[in-house]
Amino acid sequence: MPSNAACACPVCLKDADHPTAIERDGVPVLQNVIVPTREEAIGFPTHVLKMRFCERCNFVWNSAFDPGRIDYGKDYNNDAQGSGFYRAHQEERARAVARALGASPGAVVEIGCWNGEFMQAMARAGLDAPKIGFDPAYTGPDEREDGMKIHRAYFGRDSLDRIPAELAAVVSRHTIEHIAAPRPFIASLAELFSRGGAPRLFLETPDVGWTLRNDAFEDWYYEHCSLYSPTSIEYLLREFGLEGRTTGVFGDQYMWTEAARGGPRGAGRPDLAPVVFAHKAAEARFFEAWAERLRALRRAGPVAIWGAASKGVTFTLVLNRLEPGLIDAAIDLNAKKQGGFLPVTGLEIVSPEAARARGVRTVIVMNPNYFGEIEAMMGGMDWPAAALPIRETEAA
Ligand SMILES: [Zn+2]
Repeated sequence: MPSNAACACPVCLKDADHPTAIERDGVPVLQNVIVPTREEAIGFPTHVLKMRFCERCNFVWNSAFDPGRIDYGKDYNNDAQGSGFYRAHQEERARAVARALGASPGAVVEIGCWNGEFMQAMARAGLDAPKIGFDPAYTGPDEREDGMKIHRAYFGRDSLDRIPAELAAVVSRHTIEHIAAPRPFIASLAELFSRGGAPRLFLETPDVGWTLRNDAFEDWYYEHCSLYSPTSIEYLLREFGLEGRTTGVFGDQYMWTEAARGGPRGAGRPDLAPVVFAHKAAEARFFEAWAERLRALRRAGPVAIWGAASKGVTFTLVLNRLEPGLIDAAIDLNAKKQGGFLPVTGLEIVSPEAARARGVRTVIVMNPNYFGEIEAMMGGMDWPAAALPIRETEAA
């Protein structure tokens, strides 16, 4: 591990020997990628996580992050649409945007729109504004039947001339956590907001406070190089003339920020420093306890995790390093992932039916939000296996 050295916080620019919240090496550079063979999975490119914490603005970032190692190209697949819980969350957020905008004139721009799922949800929610998206991982046609325009590109300063002057809102969900240099990104956004009118900004991103308070050690990924709390996101926006208010969504794992020039100011929040240090101290015990528990559970039959996305990749990676062979497979509802392998551990991704056929007797559910629907699904399949949450209680 590289030693700590002074560096500038990417949000507030404070230069200090910022403490680390978590340090891991050999983590895959992508979590949500389809890897077709076990060999490719085991040889998957890795790098270092060195998550630092800024005591001034509470921002958390990977100071070892190298954007050149990541390519959000065509094999990137972060599709959670198979889950009813996730779809309900998405529809609810789309209704929130439609309600907030009402009949405001102008276009709605989405940054990191993937294949337009949220833009379609906003249309279903009654928002009939023109919709323009940006996403380098877009795989749909150039001319879409729904009339939406999606640019297969990152958003940045050179995107500004692709956006109409009359702008109602910018939406960006689950994108800013992938951006290593948040200030230039928000500066480009702020330029759009200074063109006139009264556009609104809606941001959704994980709340690092939830990860820390819940000791969600499976929630650290290379892709997420920039993690915010309400304090740090509002700090960042204010640096560029935007005032935001943040609320918890998706069982408080994510946070939702609505901002505008001269918007209402968010409330102050407790400092995260004590939680950061408690989290770091609890990491080893969390994985040792799971290893111990899995040794006992395996006597009843094979064990699978449910959720071959980010959380599942991290949980199995750290556990496998502590003691290989404790997990037999990863279950996922995303049919495109089934038959593929988790990066680095090479664990096979299977459908629930395939896991049942293999005699899996214990299923560890990676995301507590999906626990109810997974348990119900397993019950409906008449599958004599136990579903276990990754941890017993959740703190808000
Ligand atoms: Zn800072």
